[in-house]
Amino acid sequence: VSRDKKYKRILLKLSGEALMGSLGFGIDPKVLDRMALEVGQLVGIGVQVGLVVGGGNLFRGAALQTAGLDRVTGDHMGMLATVMNALALRDALERSNIKSSVMSAIPMSGVVDHYDRRKAIRALTRGEVVIFAAGTGNPFFTTDSAAVLRGIEVDADLVLKATKVDGVYSADPMLDPDAEKYDYLSYDEVLDKKLEVMDLTAICLCRDHNMPLRVFAMEQQGALLNIVVGGEEGTLVAT
Ligand code: UDP
Repeated sequence: VSRDKKYKRILLKLSGEALMGSLGFGIDPKVLDRMALEVGQLVGIGVQVGLVVGGGNLFRGAALQTAGLDRVTGDHMGMLATVMNALALRDALERSNIKSSVMSAIPMSGVVDHYDRRKAIRALTRGEVVIFAAGTGNPFFTTDSAAVLRGIEVDADLVLKATKVDGVYSADPMLDPDAEKYDYLSYDEVLDKKLEVMDLTAICLCRDHNMPLRVFAMEQQGALLNIVVGGEEGTLVAT
């Protein structure tokens, strides 16, 4: 394929819910296979791909706290959930013959590698997909923040957030028919308008380190590939 790549190295954030597909809980193998296919297309044109996967399809610390658990314990469970999702993703990628590894912020010897920035960069440079698991390794953070953090650390050109809607809207488009879609937003606009793009920590990290962020709908076939070759899908958040 001789398409011009706009981005050489990207960090793609996949929420746990995205892996759930139409199921109410857990992981849909069909969705995994589709994601492996789409990521494989990027690898095929020489784009280096880092993935951060969420855990909301299994456990969320805040929800567990509401159910009566200790928050930090709940967050630990949430982070372990992201490791399970990462294992499932790695499995799907490897079945599609896409070299990949999982690097966890929480060491789990014999199951996954421990996160090491230099090893991650070397693997990405070799064209391997690196799945970053266990978020930041700390409670009270989210995998959105982990995605931006890892993106900055490995010097990605762009952080991509895959969501259900095709970008950022002035209101929830599922609830408000007058909601308008933004093509572009500055970091400060996101903060001032209190738009729910990512949590504040993640947006502030992007702003402070000048990391561009694109929010798009993964469900749109080919959207991911289109973005890395310079397509204007979804909403760009940048300076
Ligand atoms: N989590 C955490 N620290 C992190 C990342 C995640 O404690 O750095 C926990 C937190 O409880 C969170 C859960 O892991 O609710 C799953 O992550 P997240 O909610 O970000 O997943 P997503 O919404 O993307 O599926």
